Amino acid sequence: MLVATTVETGVSVERAMELASAVSISVTTEVVSLDEAHGRVLAAPLCALAADPRFNNSAMDGWAVRVEDCEVKGTHLNIIGSGQAGGVAAPAVGKGEAARVMTGAAIPEGADAIVMVEDSEVDGDVVLITGPARPHYIRIRGENLEEGEEGLPAGVELTPPRLSLTGAMGHATVPVIVPPKVAVISTGDELLQPGEPLGENDLWESNTHTLAGLCHQLGCEPIRFPLVIDELDSLRTTLTRAAEECDVIITSGGVSMGDWDFVRRLMETEGDVRFWRMHIRPGGPPLFGLWNETPLFGLPGNPVSAYVVFLMLVAPWLSSNLCHHPEDGPKLADRVRVRLLDEVKGAPGKLALKRIHITTEGDELVARVRTHQGSGNLHSLVAGNGLTLLPAGVDGEPGDFIDAFWLR
Ligand code: AMP
Ligand code: MG
Repeated sequence: MLVATTVETGVSVERAMELASAVSISVTTEVVSLDEAHGRVLAAPLCALAADPRFNNSAMDGWAVRVEDCEVKGTHLNIIGSGQAGGVAAPAVGKGEAARVMTGAAIPEGADAIVMVEDSEVDGDVVLITGPARPHYIRIRGENLEEGEEGLPAGVELTPPRLSLTGAMGHATVPVIVPPKVAVISTGDELLQPGEPLGENDLWESNTHTLAGLCHQLGCEPIRFPLVIDELDSLRTTLTRAAEECDVIITSGGVSMGDWDFVRRLMETEGDVRFWRMHIRPGGPPLFGLWNETPLFGLPGNPVSAYVVFLMLVAPWLSSNLCHHPEDGPKLADRVRVRLLDEVKGAPGKLALKRIHITTEGDELVARVRTHQGSGNLHSLVAGNGLTLLPAGVDGEPGDFIDAFWLR
Protein backbone atom coordinates (compact mmCIF):
# COMPACT_ATOMS: atom_id res chain seq x y z
CA MET A 1 0.00 0.00 0.00
CA LEU A 2 1.27 3.45 -0.90
CA VAL A 3 0.77 6.22 1.63
CA ALA A 4 -0.89 9.21 -0.03
CA THR A 5 1.71 11.69 1.25
CA THR A 6 4.51 10.05 -0.78
CA VAL A 7 2.59 10.61 -4.01
CA GLU A 8 3.60 13.67 -6.03
CA THR A 9 0.54 15.86 -6.35
CA GLY A 10 -0.02 18.69 -8.77
CA VAL A 11 2.81 18.21 -11.27
CA SER A 12 3.75 19.98 -14.49
CA VAL A 13 3.21 18.18 -17.80
CA GLU A 14 6.97 17.64 -18.04
CA ARG A 15 7.21 16.16 -14.55
CA ALA A 16 4.18 13.97 -15.25
CA MET A 17 5.96 12.62 -18.36
CA GLU A 18 9.13 12.00 -16.35
CA LEU A 19 7.25 10.03 -13.72
CA ALA A 20 5.28 8.07 -16.30
CA SER A 21 8.44 7.36 -18.31
CA ALA A 22 9.91 5.53 -15.32
CA VAL A 23 7.39 2.82 -16.19
CA SER A 24 7.45 1.08 -19.56
CA ILE A 25 5.94 -1.81 -21.45
CA SER A 26 7.82 -4.04 -23.85
CA VAL A 27 6.49 -4.38 -27.35
CA THR A 28 6.91 -7.32 -29.69
CA THR A 29 7.20 -7.42 -33.45
CA GLU A 30 5.75 -9.62 -36.18
CA VAL A 31 6.29 -9.99 -39.90
CA VAL A 32 3.32 -9.26 -42.16
CA SER A 33 2.73 -9.12 -45.90
CA LEU A 34 2.42 -5.76 -47.66
CA ASP A 35 -1.33 -6.34 -47.94
CA GLU A 36 -1.59 -6.30 -44.15
CA ALA A 37 0.95 -3.56 -43.50
CA HIS A 38 -1.00 -0.36 -44.26
CA GLY A 39 -1.07 1.90 -41.19
CA ARG A 40 1.25 -0.37 -39.17
CA VAL A 41 4.44 0.87 -37.53
CA LEU A 42 7.69 -0.34 -39.05
CA ALA A 43 9.78 -2.19 -36.47
CA ALA A 44 13.19 -2.07 -38.22
CA PRO A 45 14.83 0.09 -40.90
CA LEU A 46 14.32 -1.09 -44.48
CA CYS A 47 17.03 -0.91 -47.14
CA ALA A 48 16.78 -1.17 -50.91
CA LEU A 49 17.38 -4.74 -52.09
CA ALA A 50 18.45 -3.37 -55.50
CA ALA A 51 19.50 0.03 -56.83
CA ASP A 52 16.57 2.28 -57.80
CA PRO A 53 16.54 2.66 -60.74
CA ARG A 54 18.33 -0.61 -61.46
CA PHE A 55 19.72 0.66 -64.80
CA ASN A 56 19.94 3.95 -66.68
CA ASN A 57 16.59 4.47 -68.38
CA SER A 58 14.56 7.04 -70.21
CA ALA A 59 12.29 9.44 -68.31
CA MET A 60 10.35 10.21 -71.52
CA ASP A 61 8.98 8.61 -74.62
CA GLY A 62 11.45 9.77 -77.27
CA TRP A 63 14.81 9.14 -78.91
CA ALA A 64 18.06 8.02 -77.35
CA VAL A 65 20.73 10.12 -79.06
CA ARG A 66 24.24 11.54 -78.70
CA VAL A 67 24.17 15.19 -77.58
CA GLU A 68 26.93 16.15 -79.99
CA ASP A 69 24.82 14.92 -82.95
CA CYS A 70 21.95 17.24 -82.03
CA GLU A 71 23.79 20.50 -81.42
CA VAL A 72 22.51 21.91 -84.71
CA LYS A 73 18.69 22.21 -84.89
CA GLY A 74 17.14 20.28 -87.75
CA THR A 75 19.58 17.34 -87.73
CA HIS A 76 18.47 14.10 -89.39
CA LEU A 77 19.38 10.87 -87.58
CA ASN A 78 19.08 7.28 -88.81
CA ILE A 79 16.63 5.18 -86.79
CA ILE A 80 18.46 2.01 -85.76
CA GLY A 81 15.90 0.27 -83.55
CA SER A 82 13.75 0.67 -80.47
CA GLY A 83 13.46 -0.31 -76.82
CA GLN A 84 10.57 -0.43 -74.39
CA ALA A 85 10.23 -0.76 -70.61
CA GLY A 86 10.60 -4.41 -69.68
CA GLY A 87 11.34 -5.35 -73.31
CA VAL A 88 14.46 -5.89 -75.37
CA ALA A 89 16.97 -3.03 -75.08
CA ALA A 90 17.60 -0.84 -78.11
CA PRO A 91 20.86 -1.46 -79.99
CA ALA A 92 23.90 0.75 -79.35
CA VAL A 93 23.67 4.25 -80.80
CA GLY A 94 26.57 5.45 -82.96
CA LYS A 95 27.37 8.75 -84.69
CA GLY A 96 24.34 10.11 -86.59
CA GLU A 97 21.97 7.50 -85.15
CA ALA A 98 18.92 7.47 -82.87
CA ALA A 99 17.03 4.65 -81.11
CA ARG A 100 13.35 4.95 -80.28
CA VAL A 101 12.93 4.54 -76.46
CA MET A 102 9.77 4.48 -74.35
CA THR A 103 9.59 5.74 -70.77
CA GLY A 104 11.45 3.27 -68.54
CA ALA A 105 13.35 1.64 -71.41
CA ALA A 106 17.07 1.01 -70.89
CA ILE A 107 19.37 3.61 -72.45
CA PRO A 108 21.32 1.97 -75.26
CA GLU A 109 25.08 2.11 -75.20
CA GLY A 110 26.52 5.23 -76.85
CA ALA A 111 23.47 7.45 -76.13
CA ASP A 112 23.85 10.26 -73.59
CA ALA A 113 20.57 12.20 -73.97
CA ILE A 114 16.89 11.97 -74.85
CA VAL A 115 14.96 13.95 -77.44
CA MET A 116 11.23 13.95 -76.67
CA VAL A 117 8.80 12.54 -79.25
CA GLU A 118 7.22 16.00 -79.33
CA ASP A 119 10.55 17.42 -80.62
CA SER A 120 10.83 15.08 -83.62
CA GLU A 121 9.33 14.15 -86.99
CA VAL A 122 9.75 10.67 -88.49
CA ASP A 123 10.23 10.20 -92.21
CA GLY A 124 10.71 6.53 -93.05
CA ASP A 125 13.81 5.33 -91.24
CA VAL A 126 15.10 8.83 -90.57
CA VAL A 127 14.06 11.16 -87.74
CA LEU A 128 14.24 14.95 -87.93
CA ILE A 129 15.26 16.44 -84.54
CA THR A 130 13.43 19.73 -83.90
CA GLY A 131 14.14 20.24 -80.19
CA PRO A 132 16.93 19.88 -77.63
CA ALA A 133 18.69 16.66 -76.62
CA ARG A 134 18.34 16.51 -72.83
CA PRO A 135 20.83 14.50 -70.74
CA HIS A 136 18.72 14.96 -67.59
CA TYR A 137 15.92 12.92 -69.13
CA ILE A 138 18.09 9.90 -68.48
CA ARG A 139 17.39 8.44 -65.04
CA ILE A 140 20.72 7.29 -63.65
CA ARG A 141 21.13 3.89 -61.92
CA GLY A 142 20.81 4.31 -58.13
CA GLU A 143 19.90 8.02 -58.28
CA ASN A 144 16.88 7.39 -56.01
CA LEU A 145 18.41 4.75 -53.76
CA GLU A 146 21.64 2.81 -54.00
CA GLU A 147 21.50 -0.92 -53.31
CA GLY A 148 21.65 -1.34 -49.52
CA GLU A 149 20.74 2.29 -48.81
CA GLU A 150 18.14 2.89 -46.06
CA GLY A 151 14.83 3.96 -47.54
CA LEU A 152 12.71 3.87 -44.37
CA PRO A 153 13.82 4.28 -40.74
CA ALA A 154 12.30 2.24 -37.93
CA GLY A 155 9.25 3.66 -36.17
CA VAL A 156 7.49 5.24 -39.13
CA GLU A 157 3.86 4.61 -39.92
CA LEU A 158 3.44 2.71 -43.17
CA THR A 159 1.45 5.27 -45.13
CA PRO A 160 0.54 4.53 -48.78
CA PRO A 161 3.73 6.03 -50.33
CA ARG A 162 5.91 4.34 -47.70
CA LEU A 163 4.19 1.05 -48.34
CA SER A 164 4.80 1.56 -52.03
CA LEU A 165 8.47 2.31 -51.40
CA THR A 166 8.68 -0.89 -49.35
CA GLY A 167 7.53 -2.80 -52.43
CA ALA A 168 9.78 -0.76 -54.74
CA MET A 169 12.75 -1.71 -52.54
CA GLY A 170 11.88 -5.37 -53.06
CA HIS A 171 10.34 -6.36 -49.72
CA ALA A 172 7.34 -8.69 -49.87
CA THR A 173 6.99 -8.70 -46.09
CA VAL A 174 7.78 -6.19 -43.34
CA PRO A 175 8.56 -6.35 -39.64
CA VAL A 176 5.98 -4.30 -37.70
CA ILE A 177 5.12 -3.58 -34.08
CA VAL A 178 2.43 -5.81 -32.57
CA PRO A 179 -0.21 -3.41 -31.24
CA PRO A 180 -0.14 -3.51 -27.44
CA LYS A 181 -3.53 -4.14 -25.84
CA VAL A 182 -4.99 -1.16 -24.02
CA ALA A 183 -7.96 -1.63 -21.69
CA VAL A 184 -10.34 1.32 -21.95
CA ILE A 185 -12.65 1.50 -18.95
CA SER A 186 -15.34 4.07 -18.17
CA THR A 187 -16.51 4.43 -14.60
CA GLY A 188 -19.58 6.19 -13.27
CA ASP A 189 -23.05 5.37 -11.92
CA GLU A 190 -24.57 7.92 -14.28
CA LEU A 191 -23.36 6.23 -17.45
CA LEU A 192 -25.40 4.16 -19.90
CA GLN A 193 -24.48 2.78 -23.30
CA PRO A 194 -25.69 4.90 -26.24
CA GLY A 195 -29.08 3.59 -27.36
CA GLU A 196 -30.23 2.64 -23.85
CA PRO A 197 -33.19 4.61 -22.43
CA LEU A 198 -31.94 7.28 -20.04
CA GLY A 199 -33.17 7.75 -16.50
CA GLU A 200 -33.52 11.28 -15.17
CA ASN A 201 -29.88 11.68 -14.08
CA ASP A 202 -28.16 9.45 -16.60
CA LEU A 203 -26.08 10.21 -19.65
CA TRP A 204 -24.81 8.26 -22.59
CA GLU A 205 -21.24 7.12 -22.24
CA SER A 206 -18.91 8.42 -24.92
CA ASN A 207 -15.36 8.59 -23.58
CA THR A 208 -14.43 5.00 -24.41
CA HIS A 209 -15.01 5.77 -28.08
CA THR A 210 -12.67 8.77 -27.98
CA LEU A 211 -10.00 6.90 -26.07
CA ALA A 212 -10.25 3.68 -28.09
CA GLY A 213 -10.03 5.67 -31.33
CA LEU A 214 -6.97 7.56 -30.14
CA CYS A 215 -5.28 4.32 -29.05
CA HIS A 216 -5.99 2.82 -32.44
CA GLN A 217 -4.60 5.87 -34.25
CA LEU A 218 -1.35 5.39 -32.33
CA GLY A 219 -1.03 1.73 -33.29
CA CYS A 220 -2.49 0.06 -30.19
CA GLU A 221 -5.30 -2.48 -29.90
CA PRO A 222 -7.93 -0.87 -27.69
CA ILE A 223 -10.28 -3.14 -25.75
CA ARG A 224 -13.42 -1.37 -24.54
CA PHE A 225 -14.48 -2.91 -21.25
CA PRO A 226 -18.07 -2.93 -19.95
CA LEU A 227 -19.00 0.14 -17.90
CA VAL A 228 -18.06 0.01 -14.22
CA ILE A 229 -20.29 1.46 -11.50
CA ASP A 230 -18.87 3.60 -8.71
CA GLU A 231 -18.20 0.76 -6.30
CA LEU A 232 -14.88 -0.60 -5.02
CA ASP A 233 -15.43 -4.32 -5.57
CA SER A 234 -16.64 -3.93 -9.18
CA LEU A 235 -13.76 -1.63 -9.95
CA ARG A 236 -11.19 -3.92 -8.32
CA THR A 237 -12.48 -6.94 -10.27
CA THR A 238 -12.41 -5.04 -13.58
CA LEU A 239 -8.94 -3.57 -13.05
CA THR A 240 -7.56 -6.98 -12.13
CA ARG A 241 -9.04 -8.55 -15.25
CA ALA A 242 -7.72 -5.67 -17.35
CA ALA A 243 -4.23 -6.09 -15.88
CA GLU A 244 -4.29 -9.79 -16.78
CA GLU A 245 -5.52 -9.28 -20.33
CA CYS A 246 -3.93 -5.99 -21.38
CA ASP A 247 -0.58 -4.18 -21.41
CA VAL A 248 -1.92 -0.78 -20.34
CA ILE A 249 -5.08 0.39 -18.55
CA ILE A 250 -6.85 3.68 -19.24
CA THR A 251 -9.78 4.57 -17.03
CA SER A 252 -12.14 7.52 -17.32
CA GLY A 253 -13.85 9.16 -14.35
CA GLY A 254 -13.47 8.79 -10.63
CA VAL A 255 -10.13 10.52 -10.05
CA SER A 256 -11.22 13.88 -8.62
CA MET A 257 -12.06 14.97 -5.09
CA GLY A 258 -15.62 13.59 -5.04
CA ASP A 259 -16.94 11.06 -2.53
CA TRP A 260 -17.57 8.64 -5.40
CA ASP A 261 -14.19 8.96 -7.07
CA PHE A 262 -13.26 5.34 -6.53
CA VAL A 263 -10.50 4.97 -9.09
CA ARG A 264 -8.37 7.32 -7.03
CA ARG A 265 -9.48 5.73 -3.73
CA LEU A 266 -8.70 2.19 -4.92
CA MET A 267 -5.38 3.15 -6.48
CA GLU A 268 -4.35 5.01 -3.31
CA THR A 269 -5.19 2.15 -1.01
CA GLU A 270 -4.38 -0.93 -3.07
CA GLY A 271 -2.46 0.27 -6.13
CA ASP A 272 0.81 2.11 -6.68
CA VAL A 273 0.14 5.77 -7.48
CA ARG A 274 3.06 7.70 -9.01
CA PHE A 275 1.35 11.08 -9.32
CA TRP A 276 -2.03 12.70 -9.06
CA ARG A 277 -3.18 15.98 -10.62
CA MET A 278 -1.43 17.83 -13.40
CA HIS A 279 -1.09 21.58 -14.03
CA ILE A 280 -3.29 21.79 -17.11
CA ARG A 281 -6.77 23.15 -17.80
CA PRO A 282 -8.93 21.37 -18.64
CA GLY A 283 -7.74 17.97 -17.45
CA GLY A 284 -6.41 18.80 -13.96
CA PRO A 285 -7.15 15.63 -12.00
CA PRO A 286 -5.41 12.73 -13.81
CA LEU A 287 -3.61 10.01 -11.95
CA PHE A 288 -0.86 7.66 -13.03
CA GLY A 289 0.31 4.51 -11.36
CA LEU A 290 0.40 0.72 -11.50
CA TRP A 291 -2.32 -1.80 -10.83
CA ASN A 292 -0.82 -5.29 -10.44
CA GLU A 293 2.32 -4.14 -12.30
CA THR A 294 0.27 -2.80 -15.22
CA PRO A 295 0.58 0.93 -16.01
CA LEU A 296 -2.71 2.71 -15.36
CA PHE A 297 -3.67 6.18 -16.57
CA GLY A 298 -6.65 7.46 -14.58
CA LEU A 299 -8.25 10.12 -16.76
CA PRO A 300 -10.93 12.56 -15.64
CA GLY A 301 -14.49 11.81 -16.78
CA ASN A 302 -15.27 15.13 -18.40
CA PRO A 303 -14.96 14.36 -22.11
CA VAL A 304 -12.68 17.26 -23.09
CA SER A 305 -10.49 16.67 -20.04
CA ALA A 306 -10.12 12.99 -20.89
CA TYR A 307 -9.13 13.88 -24.47
CA VAL A 308 -6.65 16.55 -23.44
CA VAL A 309 -4.92 14.34 -20.88
CA PHE A 310 -4.64 11.57 -23.45
CA LEU A 311 -3.06 13.99 -25.91
CA MET A 312 -0.62 15.56 -23.46
CA LEU A 313 0.38 12.52 -21.42
CA VAL A 314 -0.85 9.16 -22.66
CA ALA A 315 -0.07 9.74 -26.35
CA PRO A 316 3.62 10.70 -25.89
CA TRP A 317 4.06 7.86 -23.39
CA LEU A 318 2.56 5.32 -25.80
CA SER A 319 4.55 6.73 -28.73
CA SER A 320 7.78 6.39 -26.85
CA ASN A 321 6.93 2.84 -25.72
CA LEU A 322 5.98 1.86 -29.25
CA CYS A 323 9.32 3.27 -30.47
CA HIS A 324 7.62 5.65 -32.90
CA HIS A 325 9.99 7.73 -35.02
CA PRO A 326 9.99 11.17 -33.35
CA GLU A 327 9.19 12.96 -36.62
CA ASP A 328 7.36 10.43 -38.73
CA GLY A 329 5.66 8.01 -36.36
CA PRO A 330 1.89 8.07 -35.87
CA LYS A 331 0.82 11.24 -34.09
CA LEU A 332 -2.40 12.97 -33.16
CA ALA A 333 -1.46 16.63 -33.51
CA ASP A 334 1.08 18.99 -35.02
CA ARG A 335 2.57 21.83 -33.01
CA VAL A 336 2.03 25.07 -34.93
CA ARG A 337 2.18 28.81 -34.41
CA VAL A 338 -1.15 30.61 -34.89
CA ARG A 339 -2.37 34.21 -34.79
CA LEU A 340 -5.37 34.58 -32.51
CA LEU A 341 -8.41 36.34 -33.94
CA ASP A 342 -10.35 36.11 -30.67
CA GLU A 343 -9.50 36.56 -27.03
CA VAL A 344 -8.62 33.36 -25.14
CA LYS A 345 -8.42 33.31 -21.36
CA GLY A 346 -5.42 31.50 -19.90
CA ALA A 347 -5.30 29.78 -16.51
CA PRO A 348 -3.29 30.88 -13.46
CA GLY A 349 -0.60 28.29 -12.70
CA LYS A 350 -1.74 25.97 -15.50
CA LEU A 351 -1.13 25.34 -19.18
CA ALA A 352 -4.40 26.27 -20.92
CA LEU A 353 -5.65 24.04 -23.72
CA LYS A 354 -8.61 25.92 -25.12
CA ARG A 355 -10.47 24.69 -28.20
CA ILE A 356 -9.83 26.79 -31.29
CA HIS A 357 -10.56 26.53 -34.98
CA ILE A 358 -7.45 26.94 -37.14
CA THR A 359 -7.56 28.04 -40.77
CA THR A 360 -5.09 29.61 -43.18
CA GLU A 361 -5.23 33.32 -44.00
CA GLY A 362 -2.63 34.43 -46.54
CA ASP A 363 0.64 32.87 -45.37
CA GLU A 364 -0.46 32.61 -41.73
CA LEU A 365 -2.41 30.19 -39.59
CA VAL A 366 -5.18 31.99 -37.73
CA ALA A 367 -7.37 30.74 -34.91
CA ARG A 368 -10.89 31.57 -33.74
CA VAL A 369 -12.88 30.47 -30.74
CA ARG A 370 -16.15 28.93 -31.92
CA THR A 371 -17.72 27.49 -28.79
CA HIS A 372 -17.79 27.87 -25.04
CA GLN A 373 -14.92 26.20 -23.25
CA GLY A 374 -16.58 23.91 -20.70
CA SER A 375 -14.65 20.70 -20.06
CA GLY A 376 -17.91 18.80 -20.54
CA ASN A 377 -18.50 20.34 -23.98
CA LEU A 378 -17.46 17.53 -26.28
CA HIS A 379 -18.92 19.48 -29.20
CA SER A 380 -16.16 22.09 -28.70
CA LEU A 381 -13.64 19.47 -29.82
CA VAL A 382 -15.60 18.72 -32.95
CA ALA A 383 -16.40 22.34 -33.84
CA GLY A 384 -12.72 23.16 -33.34
CA ASN A 385 -9.62 21.53 -34.81
CA GLY A 386 -6.98 22.81 -32.43
CA LEU A 387 -5.93 23.49 -28.85
CA THR A 388 -4.09 26.50 -27.51
CA LEU A 389 -0.86 25.88 -25.60
CA LEU A 390 -1.09 29.03 -23.48
CA PRO A 391 1.55 29.02 -20.73
CA ALA A 392 0.43 29.39 -17.13
CA GLY A 393 -1.08 32.78 -16.36
CA VAL A 394 -0.93 34.07 -19.94
CA ASP A 395 -4.07 35.34 -21.66
CA GLY A 396 -4.25 35.39 -25.44
CA GLU A 397 -5.35 38.68 -27.03
CA PRO A 398 -6.52 39.12 -30.64
CA GLY A 399 -3.39 39.55 -32.80
CA ASP A 400 -1.12 37.52 -30.48
CA PHE A 401 0.94 34.71 -31.95
CA ILE A 402 0.75 31.62 -29.77
CA ASP A 403 1.72 27.93 -29.89
CA ALA A 404 -1.10 25.51 -30.57
CA PHE A 405 -1.82 21.90 -31.43
CA TRP A 406 -3.43 21.38 -34.82
CA LEU A 407 -5.39 18.18 -34.31
CA ARG A 408 -5.46 15.42 -36.91
P1 AMP B 1 -15.88 12.28 -12.94
O1 AMP B 1 -14.50 12.56 -13.43
O2 AMP B 1 -16.11 10.82 -12.68
O3 AMP B 1 -16.23 13.13 -11.79
O4 AMP B 1 -16.87 12.67 -14.13
C1 AMP B 1 -17.09 14.01 -14.45
C2 AMP B 1 -18.23 14.15 -15.42
O5 AMP B 1 -17.80 13.64 -16.67
C3 AMP B 1 -19.45 13.32 -15.12
O6 AMP B 1 -20.34 14.01 -14.32
C4 AMP B 1 -20.05 13.07 -16.47
O7 AMP B 1 -20.87 14.17 -16.81
C5 AMP B 1 -18.86 13.06 -17.37
N1 AMP B 1 -18.45 11.70 -17.73
C6 AMP B 1 -17.85 10.82 -16.92
N2 AMP B 1 -17.56 9.70 -17.59
C7 AMP B 1 -18.00 9.85 -18.84
C8 AMP B 1 -17.99 9.03 -19.99
N3 AMP B 1 -17.46 7.82 -19.98
N4 AMP B 1 -18.54 9.51 -21.13
C9 AMP B 1 -19.05 10.75 -21.16
N5 AMP B 1 -19.10 11.57 -20.10
C10 AMP B 1 -18.57 11.13 -18.95
MG1 MG C 1 -17.57 9.75 -11.84
